[in-house]
Amino acid sequence: MAKKAAPSKRQLAMVFDLNKCLGCQTCTLACKTAWTTRAGMEHQWWNIVNTFPGRGTPRDVFSHGGGYTKKGEPIPGDFPSKRLWGEAWDFDYEGVFGSNRDEPIPLHPREHDGAAPQWGPNWDEDMGGGEYPNSYFFYLQQICMNCSEPACVEACPRESVYKREEDGIVLIDEERCHGYRFCAEACPYKRIYFNEQRNIAQKCISCFPRLEAGVAPACIRQCPGRVRHIDYLDNADGHIYKLVKKWKVALPLRPDFGVEPNVYYIPPTSPLAFKENGEFDDTGSRIPMDYLKEMFGPGVEQALATLEAEREKAAAGKKSELMDILISRNWNDLLGPFTVDPAQLQRQPVR
Ligand code: SF4
Ligand code: SF4
Ligand code: SF4
Repeated sequence: MAKKAAPSKRQLAMVFDLNKCLGCQTCTLACKTAWTTRAGMEHQWWNIVNTFPGRGTPRDVFSHGGGYTKKGEPIPGDFPSKRLWGEAWDFDYEGVFGSNRDEPIPLHPREHDGAAPQWGPNWDEDMGGGEYPNSYFFYLQQICMNCSEPACVEACPRESVYKREEDGIVLIDEERCHGYRFCAEACPYKRIYFNEQRNIAQKCISCFPRLEAGVAPACIRQCPGRVRHIDYLDNADGHIYKLVKKWKVALPLRPDFGVEPNVYYIPPTSPLAFKENGEFDDTGSRIPMDYLKEMFGPGVEQALATLEAEREKAAAGKKSELMDILISRNWNDLLGPFTVDPAQLQRQPVR
Protein backbone atom coordinates (compact mmCIF):
# COMPACT_ATOMS: atom_id res chain seq x y z
CA MET A 1 0.00 0.00 0.00
CA ALA A 2 1.37 3.46 -0.86
CA LYS A 3 1.83 6.17 1.70
CA LYS A 4 -1.33 8.05 2.51
CA ALA A 5 -2.18 10.91 4.84
CA ALA A 6 -3.74 10.08 8.19
CA PRO A 7 -5.02 13.47 9.32
CA SER A 8 -6.16 14.25 12.85
CA LYS A 9 -7.77 17.44 14.11
CA ARG A 10 -5.02 18.01 16.66
CA GLN A 11 -1.73 16.28 17.26
CA LEU A 12 -0.41 15.38 20.65
CA ALA A 13 3.37 15.61 20.71
CA MET A 14 6.28 15.16 23.07
CA VAL A 15 9.82 16.52 23.36
CA PHE A 16 12.56 14.58 25.15
CA ASP A 17 15.68 16.50 26.18
CA LEU A 18 18.65 14.18 25.65
CA ASN A 19 20.91 16.48 27.64
CA LYS A 20 19.01 15.94 30.87
CA CYS A 21 18.32 12.21 30.87
CA LEU A 22 19.89 10.28 33.77
CA GLY A 23 19.33 6.86 32.23
CA CYS A 24 17.54 5.90 35.42
CA GLN A 25 14.72 3.97 33.68
CA THR A 26 12.10 5.40 36.05
CA CYS A 27 10.02 6.06 32.93
CA THR A 28 10.50 2.45 31.83
CA LEU A 29 9.32 1.08 35.16
CA ALA A 30 6.49 3.61 35.41
CA CYS A 31 5.12 2.26 32.13
CA LYS A 32 5.88 -1.37 32.93
CA THR A 33 4.03 -1.31 36.23
CA ALA A 34 1.10 0.62 34.79
CA TRP A 35 0.47 -1.32 31.59
CA THR A 36 2.53 -4.44 30.83
CA THR A 37 2.36 -6.78 33.81
CA ARG A 38 -0.22 -9.15 32.34
CA ALA A 39 0.34 -12.54 30.71
CA GLY A 40 2.29 -12.53 27.48
CA MET A 41 3.69 -9.06 28.15
CA GLU A 42 6.78 -10.08 30.11
CA HIS A 43 9.17 -9.00 27.36
CA GLN A 44 7.25 -5.83 26.48
CA TRP A 45 8.87 -2.50 27.31
CA TRP A 46 6.61 0.11 25.72
CA ASN A 47 9.07 2.70 26.99
CA ILE A 48 12.76 1.90 26.99
CA VAL A 49 15.88 4.03 27.34
CA ASN A 50 18.90 2.75 25.44
CA THR A 51 22.49 3.97 25.29
CA PHE A 52 23.55 5.30 21.89
CA PRO A 53 25.63 4.76 19.89
CA GLY A 54 24.42 1.26 20.61
CA ARG A 55 22.38 -1.58 19.19
CA GLY A 56 19.14 -0.61 20.95
CA THR A 57 16.08 -2.67 21.82
CA PRO A 58 15.32 -4.84 19.89
CA ARG A 59 18.88 -5.58 18.82
CA ASP A 60 19.94 -3.33 15.92
CA VAL A 61 16.70 -1.48 16.37
CA PHE A 62 16.92 0.74 13.29
CA SER A 63 17.97 -2.04 10.89
CA HIS A 64 14.75 -4.02 10.66
CA GLY A 65 13.14 -2.06 7.82
CA GLY A 66 9.73 -0.47 7.68
CA GLY A 67 8.74 3.13 7.01
CA TYR A 68 8.77 4.72 3.56
CA THR A 69 11.12 5.67 0.77
CA LYS A 70 11.44 9.34 -0.26
CA LYS A 71 8.81 8.59 -2.92
CA GLY A 72 6.39 7.35 -0.28
CA GLU A 73 6.67 3.68 -1.12
CA PRO A 74 6.65 1.28 1.84
CA ILE A 75 9.94 -0.34 2.79
CA PRO A 76 9.58 -4.03 3.70
CA GLY A 77 10.38 -4.71 7.33
CA ASP A 78 10.79 -7.72 9.57
CA PHE A 79 9.49 -8.62 12.99
CA PRO A 80 12.33 -9.17 15.45
CA SER A 81 12.19 -12.43 17.38
CA LYS A 82 11.64 -12.40 21.12
CA ARG A 83 15.30 -13.29 21.52
CA LEU A 84 16.27 -10.02 19.82
CA TRP A 85 13.95 -8.07 22.09
CA GLY A 86 15.53 -9.79 25.05
CA GLU A 87 13.32 -12.26 26.85
CA ALA A 88 12.54 -11.97 30.53
CA TRP A 89 15.35 -13.96 32.16
CA ASP A 90 14.96 -16.65 34.75
CA PHE A 91 17.02 -17.00 37.92
CA ASP A 92 17.98 -19.97 40.07
CA TYR A 93 15.76 -18.94 42.95
CA GLU A 94 15.32 -22.49 44.15
CA GLY A 95 19.05 -23.10 44.23
CA VAL A 96 19.68 -19.93 46.18
CA PHE A 97 16.79 -19.97 48.61
CA GLY A 98 15.47 -23.52 48.68
CA SER A 99 18.45 -25.70 49.56
CA ASN A 100 20.69 -26.29 52.52
CA ARG A 101 23.94 -25.99 50.61
CA ASP A 102 26.87 -24.58 52.54
CA GLU A 103 28.36 -22.72 49.61
CA PRO A 104 26.61 -19.53 48.39
CA ILE A 105 25.06 -19.90 44.93
CA PRO A 106 25.23 -16.78 42.76
CA LEU A 107 21.91 -15.58 41.34
CA HIS A 108 23.03 -15.76 37.71
CA PRO A 109 20.37 -14.97 35.10
CA ARG A 110 19.60 -17.62 32.51
CA GLU A 111 17.45 -18.00 29.43
CA HIS A 112 14.38 -20.23 29.68
CA ASP A 113 16.32 -23.06 28.03
CA GLY A 114 18.93 -22.78 30.79
CA ALA A 115 21.63 -21.14 28.64
CA ALA A 116 23.51 -18.03 29.74
CA PRO A 117 21.91 -14.89 28.25
CA GLN A 118 23.56 -13.57 25.10
CA TRP A 119 21.30 -10.56 24.76
CA GLY A 120 18.67 -8.64 26.72
CA PRO A 121 16.87 -5.33 26.75
CA ASN A 122 19.36 -2.50 27.28
CA TRP A 123 22.18 -5.05 26.98
CA ASP A 124 24.85 -2.51 25.98
CA GLU A 125 23.93 0.13 28.55
CA ASP A 126 26.59 2.84 29.04
CA MET A 127 28.94 1.37 26.42
CA GLY A 128 28.58 4.15 23.80
CA GLY A 129 31.15 5.01 21.14
CA GLY A 130 34.44 6.78 20.50
CA GLU A 131 37.93 6.03 21.82
CA TYR A 132 39.08 7.02 25.29
CA PRO A 133 39.53 9.85 26.22
CA ASN A 134 37.07 10.99 23.54
CA SER A 135 34.43 8.42 24.35
CA TYR A 136 30.79 9.51 24.41
CA PHE A 137 27.23 8.31 24.73
CA PHE A 138 23.75 9.60 25.28
CA TYR A 139 20.53 8.03 26.48
CA LEU A 140 17.71 7.72 23.95
CA GLN A 141 14.14 7.30 25.19
CA GLN A 142 11.90 5.36 22.84
CA ILE A 143 8.13 5.00 22.82
CA CYS A 144 5.52 4.99 20.06
CA MET A 145 5.90 8.24 18.14
CA ASN A 146 2.20 8.63 17.17
CA CYS A 147 3.42 9.30 13.64
CA SER A 148 1.57 11.53 11.20
CA GLU A 149 2.24 8.99 8.44
CA PRO A 150 1.95 5.86 10.59
CA ALA A 151 3.22 2.93 8.58
CA CYS A 152 1.67 0.62 11.18
CA VAL A 153 -1.82 1.96 10.48
CA GLU A 154 -1.41 1.70 6.77
CA ALA A 155 -0.03 -1.87 6.92
CA CYS A 156 -2.92 -3.41 8.86
CA PRO A 157 -5.42 -5.16 6.55
CA ARG A 158 -8.04 -5.31 9.31
CA GLU A 159 -7.89 -1.61 10.22
CA SER A 160 -7.13 -2.66 13.78
CA VAL A 161 -4.46 0.02 14.09
CA TYR A 162 -5.90 3.50 13.93
CA LYS A 163 -5.01 7.12 14.54
CA ARG A 164 -7.41 9.02 16.79
CA GLU A 165 -8.99 12.01 15.12
CA GLU A 166 -9.12 14.14 18.26
CA ASP A 167 -5.44 13.96 19.26
CA GLY A 168 -3.52 11.88 16.71
CA ILE A 169 -2.72 9.06 19.14
CA VAL A 170 -2.15 5.72 17.40
CA LEU A 171 -3.87 2.75 19.04
CA ILE A 172 -4.51 -0.94 18.36
CA ASP A 173 -8.02 -2.34 18.68
CA GLU A 174 -7.33 -5.64 20.41
CA GLU A 175 -10.76 -6.99 19.50
CA ARG A 176 -10.08 -6.56 15.78
CA CYS A 177 -6.40 -7.62 15.81
CA HIS A 178 -5.77 -11.10 14.36
CA GLY A 179 -2.06 -11.13 15.18
CA TYR A 180 -0.73 -10.83 11.61
CA ARG A 181 2.11 -8.53 12.82
CA PHE A 182 2.17 -6.52 9.58
CA CYS A 183 2.00 -3.38 11.73
CA ALA A 184 5.11 -4.44 13.66
CA GLU A 185 6.99 -5.16 10.45
CA ALA A 186 6.02 -1.74 9.06
CA CYS A 187 7.04 0.33 12.11
CA PRO A 188 10.60 1.53 11.42
CA TYR A 189 11.20 2.28 15.12
CA LYS A 190 10.13 -1.26 16.09
CA ARG A 191 7.80 -0.11 18.82
CA ILE A 192 5.16 -2.84 18.43
CA TYR A 193 5.34 -6.06 20.43
CA PHE A 194 3.54 -9.35 20.00
CA ASN A 195 1.61 -11.09 22.76
CA GLU A 196 1.90 -14.79 21.96
CA GLN A 197 -0.57 -15.79 24.62
CA ARG A 198 -3.33 -13.57 23.24
CA ASN A 199 -2.20 -13.54 19.58
CA ILE A 200 -2.37 -9.76 19.36
CA ALA A 201 0.00 -6.85 18.70
CA GLN A 202 0.49 -4.42 21.59
CA LYS A 203 2.31 -1.13 22.04
CA CYS A 204 2.45 2.16 23.96
CA ILE A 205 -1.03 3.63 24.27
CA SER A 206 0.17 7.13 25.19
CA CYS A 207 -1.57 6.53 28.54
CA PHE A 208 -4.82 7.64 26.90
CA PRO A 209 -7.00 6.85 29.96
CA ARG A 210 -4.80 9.21 31.96
CA LEU A 211 -4.85 11.90 29.26
CA GLU A 212 -8.64 11.77 29.15
CA ALA A 213 -8.64 12.49 32.89
CA GLY A 214 -6.21 15.41 32.45
CA VAL A 215 -3.27 13.41 33.88
CA ALA A 216 0.08 13.28 32.08
CA PRO A 217 1.42 9.88 30.95
CA ALA A 218 3.18 7.88 33.66
CA CYS A 219 6.56 7.98 31.93
CA ILE A 220 6.38 11.77 31.71
CA ARG A 221 4.97 12.54 35.13
CA GLN A 222 7.45 10.31 36.97
CA CYS A 223 10.62 11.39 35.16
CA PRO A 224 12.97 12.81 37.81
CA GLY A 225 15.19 14.45 35.18
CA ARG A 226 12.45 16.77 33.86
CA VAL A 227 13.36 15.42 30.44
CA ARG A 228 9.90 14.98 28.96
CA HIS A 229 7.52 17.67 27.72
CA ILE A 230 4.01 17.05 26.40
CA ASP A 231 1.40 19.30 24.74
CA TYR A 232 -0.52 19.71 21.53
CA LEU A 233 1.72 20.66 18.64
CA ASP A 234 -0.54 23.59 17.64
CA ASN A 235 -0.51 25.33 21.04
CA ALA A 236 1.65 28.35 20.18
CA ASP A 237 2.09 29.15 23.89
CA GLY A 238 3.19 25.63 24.81
CA HIS A 239 6.63 24.08 25.18
CA ILE A 240 6.29 21.71 22.23
CA TYR A 241 5.40 24.41 19.71
CA LYS A 242 8.18 26.66 20.96
CA LEU A 243 10.84 23.94 20.95
CA VAL A 244 9.83 22.41 17.62
CA LYS A 245 8.50 25.29 15.54
CA LYS A 246 9.83 28.50 17.07
CA TRP A 247 13.32 27.62 18.31
CA LYS A 248 13.71 24.59 16.00
CA VAL A 249 15.87 22.77 18.55
CA ALA A 250 13.62 19.71 18.94
CA LEU A 251 14.10 17.29 16.05
CA PRO A 252 12.52 14.04 14.84
CA LEU A 253 14.45 10.80 15.26
CA ARG A 254 15.56 9.23 11.98
CA PRO A 255 13.44 11.52 9.79
CA ASP A 256 14.60 9.45 6.81
CA PHE A 257 12.15 6.74 7.88
CA GLY A 258 9.41 8.88 6.33
CA VAL A 259 6.70 8.38 8.95
CA GLU A 260 6.73 11.92 10.42
CA PRO A 261 7.03 11.07 14.10
CA ASN A 262 5.51 13.29 16.79
CA VAL A 263 8.12 12.65 19.45
CA TYR A 264 10.99 15.12 19.09
CA TYR A 265 14.43 15.19 20.68
CA ILE A 266 16.71 17.96 21.91
CA PRO A 267 19.98 16.66 20.40
CA PRO A 268 22.90 15.81 22.68
CA THR A 269 25.60 18.37 23.23
CA SER A 270 29.05 17.03 23.93
CA PRO A 271 32.17 18.03 25.87
CA LEU A 272 35.06 19.27 23.78
CA ALA A 273 37.30 16.56 22.38
CA PHE A 274 40.87 16.14 23.63
CA LYS A 275 43.78 16.55 21.24
CA GLU A 276 46.62 14.02 21.27
CA ASN A 277 48.68 16.35 23.47
CA GLY A 278 45.89 16.32 26.05
CA GLU A 279 44.69 19.86 25.41
CA PHE A 280 41.10 20.66 24.43
CA ASP A 281 40.28 20.81 20.75
CA ASP A 282 38.22 24.02 20.57
CA THR A 283 36.84 23.05 17.18
CA GLY A 284 35.71 19.54 17.94
CA SER A 285 32.77 17.87 19.62
CA ARG A 286 33.23 14.24 20.63
CA ILE A 287 30.05 13.13 18.90
CA PRO A 288 30.63 12.99 15.13
CA MET A 289 28.33 15.38 13.28
CA ASP A 290 27.67 12.78 10.58
CA TYR A 291 26.28 10.44 13.22
CA LEU A 292 24.08 13.17 14.68
CA LYS A 293 22.78 14.02 11.21
CA GLU A 294 21.95 10.38 10.60
CA MET A 295 20.00 10.25 13.85
CA PHE A 296 18.30 13.66 13.87
CA GLY A 297 18.47 14.95 10.31
CA PRO A 298 20.20 17.93 8.69
CA GLY A 299 18.75 20.49 11.15
CA VAL A 300 20.91 19.18 13.99
CA GLU A 301 23.90 21.43 13.33
CA GLN A 302 21.83 24.60 13.58
CA ALA A 303 19.90 23.25 16.56
CA LEU A 304 23.13 22.62 18.47
CA ALA A 305 24.41 26.10 17.54
CA THR A 306 21.18 27.65 18.84
CA LEU A 307 21.40 25.65 22.09
CA GLU A 308 24.99 26.73 22.62
CA ALA A 309 24.26 30.42 21.90
CA GLU A 310 21.29 30.47 24.28
CA ARG A 311 23.23 28.60 26.94
CA GLU A 312 26.00 31.21 26.78
CA LYS A 313 23.41 33.98 26.94
CA ALA A 314 21.89 32.50 30.08
CA ALA A 315 25.34 31.93 31.58
CA ALA A 316 26.04 35.64 31.07
CA GLY A 317 22.99 36.45 33.17
CA LYS A 318 20.69 37.38 30.30
CA LYS A 319 17.14 36.12 29.85
CA SER A 320 16.72 33.11 27.56
CA GLU A 321 13.23 31.80 26.86
CA LEU A 322 14.73 28.64 25.42
CA MET A 323 16.83 27.84 28.50
CA ASP A 324 13.89 28.63 30.78
CA ILE A 325 11.73 26.11 28.90
CA LEU A 326 14.42 23.42 28.94
CA ILE A 327 15.15 23.93 32.64
CA SER A 328 11.43 24.08 33.60
CA ARG A 329 11.88 25.24 37.18
CA ASN A 330 8.18 24.61 37.75
CA TRP A 331 7.91 20.94 36.76
CA ASN A 332 4.19 21.19 36.07
CA ASP A 333 5.11 23.39 33.08
CA LEU A 334 6.37 20.23 31.37
CA LEU A 335 2.91 18.71 31.38
CA GLY A 336 1.04 21.08 29.06
CA PRO A 337 -2.69 20.74 29.70
CA PHE A 338 -2.26 17.45 31.61
CA THR A 339 -1.51 18.78 35.09
CA VAL A 340 -4.17 16.93 37.10
CA ASP A 341 -2.64 15.09 40.07
CA PRO A 342 -3.74 11.43 39.82
CA ALA A 343 -4.00 11.31 43.61
CA GLN A 344 -6.94 13.70 43.33
CA LEU A 345 -8.92 11.32 41.11
CA GLN A 346 -10.78 9.42 43.79
CA ARG A 347 -13.68 7.96 41.83
CA GLN A 348 -11.62 6.79 38.87
CA PRO A 349 -8.14 6.11 40.21
CA VAL A 350 -5.48 6.29 37.53
CA ARG A 351 -2.20 4.55 38.24
FE1 SF4 B 1 3.18 3.28 14.29
FE2 SF4 B 1 5.72 2.87 14.90
FE3 SF4 B 1 4.89 5.34 14.32
FE4 SF4 B 1 4.12 4.16 16.61
S1 SF4 B 1 6.21 4.70 16.03
S2 SF4 B 1 2.80 5.30 15.16
S3 SF4 B 1 3.96 2.03 16.02
S4 SF4 B 1 4.94 3.60 12.91
FE1 SF4 C 1 3.93 3.73 28.63
FE2 SF4 C 1 2.13 5.69 28.79
FE3 SF4 C 1 4.70 6.32 28.40
FE4 SF4 C 1 3.31 5.11 26.44
S1 SF4 C 1 2.96 7.17 27.27
S2 SF4 C 1 5.39 4.59 27.13
S3 SF4 C 1 1.92 3.80 27.63
S4 SF4 C 1 3.81 5.32 30.23
FE1 SF4 D 1 15.08 8.67 33.92
FE2 SF4 D 1 13.60 10.60 32.78
FE3 SF4 D 1 15.71 9.62 31.49
FE4 SF4 D 1 13.51 8.14 31.81
S1 SF4 D 1 13.68 10.03 30.60
S2 SF4 D 1 15.62 7.44 32.10
S3 SF4 D 1 12.83 8.78 33.84
S4 SF4 D 1 15.73 10.76 33.42
